[in-house]
Amino acid sequence: MILQITALCLFFCSVCSFTIHASVKKTDEYSGNSIEDDELSVSTLIEKANVNVGKNLDDPLVLFGDIAVPTGFQNADPCTFRGCLWPKSRDGNVYVPYRISNQYSQRERNTIVQGLRSFASSTCIRFTPLNRQRDFLDIQSRSGCFSFVGRRGSGQTLSLQRQGCIFRSIIQHEVLHALGFNHEQTRSDRDQHVRILLQNVIPGMEHNFRKIQTRNLNTPYDYNSVMHYGRFAFSRNRQPTILPIPDGNVAIGRAEQMSPIDILRVNRLYRCNSTLSRPDPEPVPRNLFL
Ligand SMILES: [Zn+2]
Repeated sequence: MILQITALCLFFCSVCSFTIHASVKKTDEYSGNSIEDDELSVSTLIEKANVNVGKNLDDPLVLFGDIAVPTGFQNADPCTFRGCLWPKSRDGNVYVPYRISNQYSQRERNTIVQGLRSFASSTCIRFTPLNRQRDFLDIQSRSGCFSFVGRRGSGQTLSLQRQGCIFRSIIQHEVLHALGFNHEQTRSDRDQHVRILLQNVIPGMEHNFRKIQTRNLNTPYDYNSVMHYGRFAFSRNRQPTILPIPDGNVAIGRAEQMSPIDILRVNRLYRCNSTLSRPDPEPVPRNLFL
């Protein structure tokens, strides 16, 4: 508990020191990769929406930009080895129950539902309205956009703030966290693909660039992943914080939706082509999924 409070205080202070300079106009030496060009990158949108995260004591501790952490400063390690996958049904689909708060307008709700539904066309993930299941995504407009990594047990908050988070890219990004995925630039092999410029990172925000022993599922590093930060993420001085290597001019973190590799990973992690692994004893009525 003391650790939690300490962590919360530390994070609160670091959030307070964080300001956005997006209104200042200036280009840098990376043609087509200026900070203005990154205005709509997932990480820029999330950074803006999350400027007040941590100020509300009811909110969970949020680290790594938008990952909710259950206790203290524990790393958001991939938990998929330890049982945080959502269970697979006998029919080969993975049914993920959800509830959407009534805080949203019909239009916002539709956008969220479309974001959830987008997984059904390319993966075996099926989002299904909550119907007495124990574990579910509790989609609410809290302060900012954030999610836990993987299934946490019982209702888990997935926050999509009405102002700033209702975009397809962000909905898919937060849902991918809930399915068990981390940010692309925290991948175990990221140093072969990007250089992190910690000298340009806002003091106190360095943890966002910590490397994690991820399961990479035999998929290549993907600059176009919807889980990849933009090159100016958490920059304190309008200089890049992430540079692709060897070619620093390659665009990164600009995805507006899941990339083909994001989709491949979901299919691999949940063995979408197999109906044999880890059957769920409780089949879900087929007409309920999205
Ligand atoms: Zn994230």
